[in-house]
Parts: sequence; C-alpha cells; structure tokens
Amino acid sequence: MSAVFPTISEQKQPYAWSIAPNAGALQALAEGIWSCAKQTQQRPLVVLSTAGPLIGLRAALEDTRPKDLPNQIAFLPQVISFTDWLEAAPNAWKFPKKQSDLERWISVYVNLRKHPKLKTWFKAESDAGAWGLAKSVIDACDALSEAVVPQLQSELNILLATHSMDVDVWLKKVELVLDQAIAKAYVGLSKKVVDDESEVLLAFWRYLTNAGDPVIRKHLAMADHLQVAKTHFQSSNMAGRPFIWVQTADPKPVDQELMNAYLFDYAQFAPVVHVQLDWQMLALWSEALCGLDAEGQIAIANAEEQQQVANNVQANRREGWRLLAATRFEELAWSATKSIENHLIAGKKNIALVAQDRLAARRSRALLSRLGSSLRIRDETGWKLSTTRAAAAFDSWLELIRSSKEGPSASVLLEFLQNPYFDLAKSLNISPETSIGLIAQLEDILIASQAKSGWQTFLMAIERANYYAATNGGSPNERLHELIAFISQRHRAWQQESLACSAAYELLQNDLHEMGMYDRLERDSAGKKLIETLKNFDLSAGIYQDIKMRLPEWLSLLKTIIEEASYEEEGKTAEASLSILPLSSTRLREFDAVVLVGCDEQQLPAFSEPPLFFSDTLNRLLKSSTIAAQYVQQARDLSGLLGACQNVDLLWQSKSRSGEPLRASAWIQRLQAALKCSNPWQVTDVKFEPYSGQSAPIQMAVSIPDKDLAIPITVSPSAYKALRDCPYRYYVTSLLGLRKAKEFEEGFDASLAGQTLHALLKTFFQALKTEEEKPHSSISAGGEVRRQWMVDRLMQYSEKEFEKLIAGDARVLGTLRDWQKQIPSFVDWQLKREQEGWRYHDAELPVGFTLTLEDPDGISRDIKIAGRADRFDIHVNNDAAAAVIDYKNQPMKKITKRAEHILNDPQLLIYARAANENPSASHLPGRTVEQAEWVSLKAVVDKGEAKNIRANAVEDMPNLMDQFSVQIEKDLNVLWARQPMQAFAPDSVCQYCEARGICRKGMW
Ligand code: SF4
Repeated sequence: MSAVFPTISEQKQPYAWSIAPNAGALQALAEGIWSCAKQTQQRPLVVLSTAGPLIGLRAALEDTRPKDLPNQIAFLPQVISFTDWLEAAPNAWKFPKKQSDLERWISVYVNLRKHPKLKTWFKAESDAGAWGLAKSVIDACDALSEAVVPQLQSELNILLATHSMDVDVWLKKVELVLDQAIAKAYVGLSKKVVDDESEVLLAFWRYLTNAGDPVIRKHLAMADHLQVAKTHFQSSNMAGRPFIWVQTADPKPVDQELMNAYLFDYAQFAPVVHVQLDWQMLALWSEALCGLDAEGQIAIANAEEQQQVANNVQANRREGWRLLAATRFEELAWSATKSIENHLIAGKKNIALVAQDRLAARRSRALLSRLGSSLRIRDETGWKLSTTRAAAAFDSWLELIRSSKEGPSASVLLEFLQNPYFDLAKSLNISPETSIGLIAQLEDILIASQAKSGWQTFLMAIERANYYAATNGGSPNERLHELIAFISQRHRAWQQESLACSAAYELLQNDLHEMGMYDRLERDSAGKKLIETLKNFDLSAGIYQDIKMRLPEWLSLLKTIIEEASYEEEGKTAEASLSILPLSSTRLREFDAVVLVGCDEQQLPAFSEPPLFFSDTLNRLLKSSTIAAQYVQQARDLSGLLGACQNVDLLWQSKSRSGEPLRASAWIQRLQAALKCSNPWQVTDVKFEPYSGQSAPIQMAVSIPDKDLAIPITVSPSAYKALRDCPYRYYVTSLLGLRKAKEFEEGFDASLAGQTLHALLKTFFQALKTEEEKPHSSISAGGEVRRQWMVDRLMQYSEKEFEKLIAGDARVLGTLRDWQKQIPSFVDWQLKREQEGWRYHDAELPVGFTLTLEDPDGISRDIKIAGRADRFDIHVNNDAAAAVIDYKNQPMKKITKRAEHILNDPQLLIYARAANENPSASHLPGRTVEQAEWVSLKAVVDKGEAKNIRANAVEDMPNLMDQFSVQIEKDLNVLWARQPMQAFAPDSVCQYCEARGICRKGMW
C-alpha cells in the first residue's frame, strides 16, 4: 500500500512521500501528483531520477485526471527525466562549452602518449588498449569529480546569482572556484592513496578536470534551476510551482547527499515532494527490505523484518510465476521463445523479455522474427552499432585504407567493393547499366589469377585478362583499370606518416561522398546513426583539430567510438509488442507478461564491471556505487517485477558450457524454500519432443540431363577431364553451371606467378630465336657461351616479369627466387633437348579440333574441343616432326601420377590432335606432332638429379592417340544422348570436388 499524499502547507522543508512499487504504483503516483496540483493550484514539475517510467506515468496521469480542474492546472503536470531536466536549464547557454566524449578521450590520450610507461603499467600498449585506458581514466575522473564537486554547490549557487556579469568573466570565476576545490581535494585524496596507479589517476584528474565536464555542468544546471525558483519567489513573493522528485532507484550515497541538500534549498522557494519507493510490503528477500547499513554493507534483518519478508513472499506468490530449466543453450532460447508465443496466444499484448542472459535473448529474438510484422520487437538493450550492416560496410573501407602502401589484399578489396553502400556508378561516373557485373568480373579475374594482394598485382591480372579477351574474340574491359585506379588513389591519400584529426575527418567525409556511400548510408536508419556518430569526429572547431595521430591510432579511435555507439531499430505498429530490456528497466513499468532469461546463479544478480582503478573500498570512500549497493538494487528490482506482474517466467540453463550443473539464482532458491510448505514452486525441466520418422537411405546420385538443358558445344581440356573423372560432377558444374564461390587460399598462390612464368618463357624463347638469326651471334657456337647466355637472359627476364608482381605482394619474391634456382637446370634440359634436334617453335597458341556428332533427334552437332597449348617444338633434322610441351608448375611426382592416367586427363593428346588436324593454325604446316611431354618448372634441383627428371614424355603416342579419339567420341555421344550421369569417382577426386554437397558423397 502506498502512503497518503502529504498535505502541502507553508513548510520550508521537503515533504517525504513513499509509494509501494507494485502493480498500482504508477496510478498511486499519478493521483499524488494531481493531489499536489489541486492543493497548490499550480502545475507541478515532476522529475524522475530514471527515464524508464516516463511514458507510463504520463499515461497514468491522463487516466487519473480529476474532473472539473481549474484552468491553471488543467494541463497535464510536466513529467521529465533528470537528464532532460538538466539539459533544460534556462541559462545553459552561458555554461562552459560542453566537451564531447571524444575531446575528453583525446585529451587523456595525448597525455598517455607522452608517457609510454603509463601504458605499460596499465597493460594498454596497443592502440585500442590505449583508447580503452583513456576511457577508463575519464570514467574514474568523473567518479572523483562526483565525490568532490557537491562541496562546491553553494559556491556555484552564488556564482549563478550573478546574472548580469560578463559571461567570460563569469566562466573564469567558475574555473577558478573549480580549480581551488580540486587542488584542495587533491591534497586530501593523495594522502589516502598509496599505489602508483591511483597517484597517476589523481594527477590526471587534477589537471584534466575542467568546467566543461559533464559532472560540473550537471551541478551548474541544478544551481541554475534553483536560481530560477529563487528569483521567482523573490520577485512575486509567492511559492513557485511544486517540484516533485521521484527517486525510482536507490541513489549512490554521494547523490543521495547532494539531492537531500538540494531539495532542502529548493524547498525555501517552492513546495518540494521527495518520492521514494517503499519496499515494506513487496520485498521478497531481507536485503530488498533492509538495504544497506550506515557502513555501506548489507544490513542484517532482525526477527520482525524476517517475518515481514516471509509474509510478503506468501502474499505476493502468484500462480503465473513459472520456473523453467533447460539443459542446453538452444533449448533455453527455444523455451524463452515458446513462452513468449504462449503469452501471445493467450492474448497478451505487451510483453517484456528481460535479457539477463544477453546471448539467449538475442537468439530468442532471432527465432521470434519468424512471427513477422505482427509482433513489434523493441530492443532497449540496443544493438551495438558495430553489428549493423551499415557499420560493417563502413568498416570494410577502414580495413582497406589501413592496408600497407602496396595495397590491400584482394579479399579486403572485394569485401569493400561488394558492400551495398558503395556506389560504383557514381564513383566511376558511369551509368548504372554499365556498372552491372563489373565487380563480379573483377572478382573472377582476381580469383582466377589468384592475385591476392597489391595494386600492381591487381593491375597485372586485369591486363592479362584484357589481353586474353582481346586475343580470343572477347572484349577487354578498361573500366576495371579505372576502378582500381579510383580506389588506389583514395588509398594513397591515407598513406601519410601522421594525420591531423580535422584533416583525417575531412578526407574520410570526402571519400564517403565521392564513393556515393554517404547518400546510401543516409537512406538507411543504421546508416544515419553511423553518420551522426562520425560527426563527433569533426574537431575542426575545437582545440584538438591539429592533434596529429598515426593512421592506425586514428582508425583505432574511430573503431572504439563506433563500438561504443548503440543503435535502436525504428519501431513499427503491430498487434503486440515485445520489449527486450535489462532488469533495471522494468522498474515502475507495466507489462502483461515478463520472460526473464538467464536466472542462473552466475547471471542473477549480475554486477557491472568494476572501474579499472577503484577497489570496492575506494568506491565506498568516494560514496560511489558498490557491489553491495548493486546487489540490493537488483533484489529490489526483482521483487518489484514479481510483485507487479501476474505472469513471470524465470528461465535458466541448468548446465554450463563445460557440462557442470548450474543452479537457479540463490534468490529463486530462497523463494522456493520459503514456499515449500504452503505453495510449492516447482521447476519444470524443458524438454522437446524429438521428431521421429523413417528415412530411406540415399542412393548414389544420378541425373538425366533435361531435354531443355543446353549442352556446351565447346569443351575445354579441363571440362573433358571433369567429365571423365565423374559425369555427375560435369553435370553439376558444366551443364547446370553451378560453381562454388571461390576463395583465396592462404598464403601466396602460384597461379599468377604460373602465368608470369609462362609469359616470361615465351619472351625468352622468342628472344633466343631472334638472337640465333643474327649472323655473328656468339650463341650459335653452342657450348658454355650459349648456356651462359640463356641462363643470364632467363634470369633477367624473370626479374623483369616478376617486378610488378613483387611490387604488389612482396611475398612473391620467394617464388621468384625459387624459380631462379631452377633456371640453370632448366637451361640444361633445354640444351639436352636441342642436342636431340628439337628447337623451340612457338608458344601460348590457341588450338582446337571439331567433332561432328549426331544427337538423338538426328541433328548433326559440331563440338569444338579447344584449349591453349603452352609450347610447340620442331625437329631440325626431320621436316615433318613436331612436339607439344605442357609446362607444369608442379613437382615431378605429381606429373608422373598424371601420366599414369593420361586418357582421363588427355590435355596433351588434345593439343596434338588439334595441331595435326589443323597444322597451319598451329603454325606447323607440313609437320605432325609425334611427341608430347610435360615439363616441370618445380623440379627437385638440390639433389643433382634435376637434369634427368624435369620432363615426362608420353609413351606410345600413336596408340594412345587412337584410343583417345575413340574414347572422346564415345563420351560425347553418351553426353549428347542425355543418358544418366552418375556420381562415381575415387576419393582422391572427390576430396576437392565442388559438387560434393550436391551429390552427397559420403551419405551413400
Ligand atoms: S564428390 Fe565425387 S562422386 Fe560426387 S560429384 Fe564430386 S567427383 Fe563425383
């Protein structure tokens, strides 16, 4: 029961009034406020210490509005939160300039930077750690100011009275008073601290505290409101409008003292009512009833108080309280979801999910999203801004600019380019139609060439792709070049030793505008919040605009601030609403049902992280919040929640992650014990009925190509290999065109290096041919001179061709050096081949042949089997002989294995047949390819055997060629007949198969 509202008289002291925080609390409070309005015939000002009950109280005031009110009090009493009330101070314009959080961080950070030792002390040597430390220092300084500044209140009151004084002079006075007070307090506190860290902290506080700090502004605002009340009283000689202070949560001792003194001062000029919560009939545990003792410890209940608590438990017990224990995390989230669903089915419209276990609450939220728009979910715990899509997109740009001056990795680049906020058309100043598919094309090129990092590498990969397209009937795409140039130019602008904060902000804004990201972010609610957060970085008008930082320092600051920011989704109207909130936010609020998830002994109660620098004892000394105070507050909040709401589900996970049993919170256990005899409160173990059913074993996958499915009329050597390896795989990859999203493997891959090797070998052999044609060239004599010439040139060409690659990714240097070690032995192999009469003829030639088949409909089909041959040689002593060579960037062991299954991987046979069927296209008129071999570019050279084992020739060529011709015709006939394509392949093939998830190998 709430107490009767006091009768207002001429008393110059605050009136104390208490209300029971039960289901009728808001109504009782509203009726009291109306009573105050009627008694004083003035519109009261109601200030709530926390904002949670604001809307509920306004609604209750509307519901309880008395009839026939006189005009002057007909308006709803003004209800405002403490924070808003401070902001509304009438003379706030002349207060010292408010320092933003960022400016305060920077001020500490700059000082920390001067003293690296401090960072080591506090174990915050990384940039992120140093920013975290700066934040902790500020929190600690605020706590110190909170303890000291109340002593200044009377002086601030006097200062505020000097209205007419010049603002600058007034500000100087405020600074002076503050300085003196801090210097005095510093001496006192320094004597009490013994350790180095606290001493350093005090020094920070001594020199960093200024009149723009939030704590000082809070006191100035309070003094200002007081001054207004005083002026009104003095000018009208009448008491001002009543001031009702509603203390919704237990204050810190320091705040309690401050408010008591303030309310007393205020009461001299207007009626003041101090509303507190009365736990007498509602406290379910002794600590909720008795609170803290004078020492700040939990008070011990006497026999009478214990009896009161026991009575409260019996009186407040509701049938709608449920205890639900789940063994696993998923079960917990599911049962929370089910509870909410059941409440919704029962017609409850306003439900709360108390996120004591934030992870489980998040999971439930995700599960509830399937209910669609009929349930409005308001997450009052706030999403971290950094978890939104907008922040992830922005972060992808930060990751890009922080990469080394050579350029980002391809994954970082693609992640940025693929973010939905990047406007490619605007960036390149092209039409949206032209920009379609450009990034996908770039991705394909980078992945195909395994160009993993560095602007030069990307440009080279694009150049090669464009060259290939130009020489193979495709169309090169110059936009790709422009895209890389555009991004790299912006990246380059960030590569400076250090950046001034204001310049860095400007550069960032510039980037966002030029890349069209700004506009797109503005169209998204999380994006808007992000832009707003970024605006804090505009230090151009402040004293820190010229502070210089290294790029990683600045980026780390940016990320820390974004990490701190939270984002609340925009609400929509719906049939029912679910509020996800912390326990403290349920205070004096009304819900139809509450689901509290995470009621185990580890999470209920939950304590906030202690400040980095303060022990619990020091907190007590500073009259700040202590563990005991938090414990009492949570006991009261939970008592209030259980007492006010008919339906409360308390859920927890009964087994920890490590499999250890987890019990319910001690508060729940104590309630169970108290209710044991009268009305036992049983735990329900959440169990899910397993679904049962019969499944038929999966058979080996097989598919018949649909008659409308197009069959490719060009087959590359690798596609034919896929068909031979496993028809089902060919069906999935070539007929259906399904491809796994390719990824960049770890480390530098040889693919682009492999292409480079092929290209430089072609250049080298062309140069050799040209040199041989010179009449007096020394190399024509052969012997050591020729060998040395070849080694030197090959070395030179290698350096030159790899130069760009190395500029893009320094790790490629290792690949170049490995290859250079191969060169002498490669030259020896070449010389040996020349002794046998073979000469280099041409390289990198597109070749192919055509097979004519008749499909099942009797239509004649021309199928082109085509690829690109690495090299053709001709024999000097035999005008009709030619050979085909395939370079492999693989060791000989792999090549030998490949040779054993040549009919399944008949690349060389395809090139040979293509050259023989169309000698002029292969630049081999009059010659027949009779010899084919693989040549390793990665042979083992340190064992001295390289000369003998660099090449592997195909044996019995004529016979194999015949077999191959019969085989390919048969295979393609089967394919065109659209016969069943079965999944079968040895495990060695399946291991890397992209279609494995489709054929379900391993399930049959
Ligand atoms: S996993 Fe093996 S059986 Fe399945 S499609 Fe791939 S290669 Fe064929």
